[in-house]
Amino acid sequence: MRRSDSISSISSSASDEETMQIFVKDISGLNTIPLTLPSNTSIHTLRTLLALRTNTSPTDLRLVHAGKHLSSPLATLLSLDIASNSTLHMALPLRGGMPPKKIKCSFKECVRAAQRITGDCSFCDGKFCGSHRLLEDHRCEGLEDCKKESHERNAERLNSERTVAIKGV
Ligand SMILES: [Zn+2]
Ligand SMILES: [Zn+2]
Repeated sequence: MRRSDSISSISSSASDEETMQIFVKDISGLNTIPLTLPSNTSIHTLRTLLALRTNTSPTDLRLVHAGKHLSSPLATLLSLDIASNSTLHMALPLRGGMPPKKIKCSFKECVRAAQRITGDCSFCDGKFCGSHRLLEDHRCEGLEDCKKESHERNAERLNSERTVAIKGV
């Protein structure tokens, strides 16, 4: 109470529009942009302002304060409890959501990444790396049934069938 009383007495003309200074660190973290703004400045306005200053598109700009992403464009500095002399951080959005997950080769202890599509085995539903993608190389379990009646000469045929299956994907 007393705080706002003293402020309004200093700047009586600005009535309830308190101005405050905040600092915004740019994406590199090397530059700090000082800004003097009314405390009722919205995040949307702040973002637009910063986008102009830094040559970024406002939609590409995310603001972080005290580890929290300021996601609501209508929220004001005041409503977010951002005090004078606070430092905000600029960050870039995460594009396309989660980064694509690397699929590990299904073969036992193999730690290599599975090949996309060509590493899929249509017999055992495994996903394999370049050196395990052939039925023989990952000792395909889906092949077990066939093996009982198959002989080595059949391996070649199965292999070509597999290739056909892959091409059909
Ligand atoms: Zn492998
Ligand atoms: Zn398999």
